[in-house]
Amino acid sequence: MNPRLLILIYLFMVLLPLGLSWVGGRPPRSVWDELASGAGMLAFAIILAEFLLSGRFRAISARIGMDVTMRFHQLLARSALALALVHPYLYRAPFNPPHPWDVTRQLTLSTDVAGIVTGFLAWMLLPALVLLAVDREQGGFRYETWRLMHGLGAALVAGLILYHTLNSGRYSQDPILARVWIGLFLVALTSLAFIYLVKPALKRQSPWVVDAVQSIGLNIWELTIAPRGHKGLRYQAGQFVWLNVGSSAASLNENPFSISSAPKSGNKLQFIIKELGDFTRTLGQIVPGTQAYVDGPHGNLVISGRTEPGIALIAGGVGIAPLLGILRQLHHDKDTRPTALIYGNRVEAQIVCRDELETLACEHGTKIVHALYEPPADWTGHVGMCDADLIRRVFGRSEMRQWLFILCGPPIMMEVAEETLIGMGVPARQILSERFNYE
Ligand SMILES: Cc1cc2nc3c(=O)[nH]c(=O)nc-3n(C[C@H](O)[C@H](O)[C@H](O)COP(=O)(O)OP(=O)(O)OC[C@H]3O[C@@H](n4cnc5c(N)ncnc54)[C@H](O)[C@@H]3O)c2cc1C
Repeated sequence: MNPRLLILIYLFMVLLPLGLSWVGGRPPRSVWDELASGAGMLAFAIILAEFLLSGRFRAISARIGMDVTMRFHQLLARSALALALVHPYLYRAPFNPPHPWDVTRQLTLSTDVAGIVTGFLAWMLLPALVLLAVDREQGGFRYETWRLMHGLGAALVAGLILYHTLNSGRYSQDPILARVWIGLFLVALTSLAFIYLVKPALKRQSPWVVDAVQSIGLNIWELTIAPRGHKGLRYQAGQFVWLNVGSSAASLNENPFSISSAPKSGNKLQFIIKELGDFTRTLGQIVPGTQAYVDGPHGNLVISGRTEPGIALIAGGVGIAPLLGILRQLHHDKDTRPTALIYGNRVEAQIVCRDELETLACEHGTKIVHALYEPPADWTGHVGMCDADLIRRVFGRSEMRQWLFILCGPPIMMEVAEETLIGMGVPARQILSERFNYE
């Protein structure tokens, strides 16, 4: 689906309740009361749309990218929180039972206890939900526990707000708007059900099995999985999947990993994975034959359809994984465009697939530049970070103007690389990037 169409669908979904209230033809109240209702309705619509921006829907993340999807999700959650927090404070109308001459409750607000209590509970829970997501690591929860709490918490908040809106909302007395709210709420719940019920069932139809696990660098592993009883996954080089190894298809134990193999190299999937937390530290104990499940492909770090005359890849550490998949695919396709890779690491032992990179340099003509910031005494490559200076040395003006730049690595490296490229005049549309965390 076209990204512009996605934005239009999003705006339609979020603005529909406001629009219906607008055309509902109720006599206007004070500006503050209207602002209060508007803020509440907008906050609720944004919250419901957040369920679709969870990053799990390929139609969205494969079009606008995972980074953009998650940035939107975070930004909009904060906006909804701000609107929800001011919503009760803006009201000027008195809280009273509706008078006989005011059956539409235009001049009074409901004191229906359940309506007020549900609104209050949602008002208290929403900041907790957002704060726990913003400062997830401080919460001390396992990622999977946090994810479950986040999903269930969001569903609870949405349910409370729905009750509050239908019972205390002045505009929601209109049956059409009430049905729209219920419809949007059902869309949100269906999206949760799709992720937690339908997807596991689909994954069960296409199981995978661990083919090999091998150590390929300092705390870095290469994991290969093979399809069991099906043809495998249709994906594009550079995409990623949520991978679940050794747990049931419905388990929340799944992590996002970029595919480092190329689609044309066969139906097995390869991953380059760095030890970081509770799952990745157990990679060395995984034995071939272990059942695995894959949800994907996701992400838009892909070069199909890109017509730039050259391709520049800038990788930091394990960020090499998707970029290696892209290089491998370009080699398979005998793509004649020039390619260059800057590959930065802390120490030499972290460089992975070094021989293969040298082969790519010889056979495909890829210019490979290694950078280490803790190099050994006999190191002849670049010393230091993969920084602005290095990028400027490797890429000249014409490359900056015309090539496609693909970045993947630690946040600080990505920021420096993006700033340098933009500063050197690389148009934003010629930069593709993917982050491995969304903090
Ligand atoms: C799009 C994408 C592609 C990635 N590709 C690679 C790759 O090719 N190689 C690689 O080594 N790492 C990759 N990562 C990072 C990798 O997902 C984490 O290092 C891994 O999930 C850590 O899991 P853990 O259980 O060992 O650690 P934990 O202690 O559970 O998690 C450590 C951190 O990893 C992140 N994380 C964990 N689980 C998830 C999840 N289900 N969804 C999103 N983030 C999660 C969180 O930021 C968390 O704080 C990628 C991440 C993303 C978002």
